[in-house]
Amino acid sequence: MNPTPKYRTGLGFDAHELVAGRRLMLGGVHIPSKLGLAGHSDADVLLHALTDALLGALALPDIGALFPDTDAKWKNAPSELMLRGAYQRVRAKGFRLLNADCVLVCDQPKLVPHSVAIRTSIARMLDVQPDLVGLQAKTTEGTRLALKRKSIAAFATVLVARKPGTRSRLRSPTPDPRPPTPARP
Ligand code: MG
Repeated sequence: MNPTPKYRTGLGFDAHELVAGRRLMLGGVHIPSKLGLAGHSDADVLLHALTDALLGALALPDIGALFPDTDAKWKNAPSELMLRGAYQRVRAKGFRLLNADCVLVCDQPKLVPHSVAIRTSIARMLDVQPDLVGLQAKTTEGTRLALKRKSIAAFATVLVARKPGTRSRLRSPTPDPRPPTPARP
């Protein structure tokens, strides 16, 4: 068997519906908007994608398994708590973040004016310099990747590295805390 690699990448995706009566939170930053994202937590689609990217890098259970939307604890909760919780699990495995890159697909509101604030916010949560967090704000260009004025989608990728002098703690897969799906009759 090959030794556990020093570097691992992770990929995350999420999408939420835009609705009236919700604050729009992206990357932990409040974006002025008539519409916000629907969801159990604060529905920060970008932090959810990043959380899954970090968990995926270490093949850990995903955000839905670790922070279930059936748990009242996460009702309207800041998604920063999930991101920090995921990164804590990554660090517990002996890895740290080298860099992250993110794509937001959103027609409205325009996100470019908020790009620096969002990158700085994410960098603070993950304890890295803002120039280690990339962010591209894209429009749908008429595709159905995210629906105009109806949803926002986010993609995130991360690169993590094993901390020097840390022995691998990845020998066995982490079990998914969700109960197994009953077999269909
Ligand atoms: Mg989500």
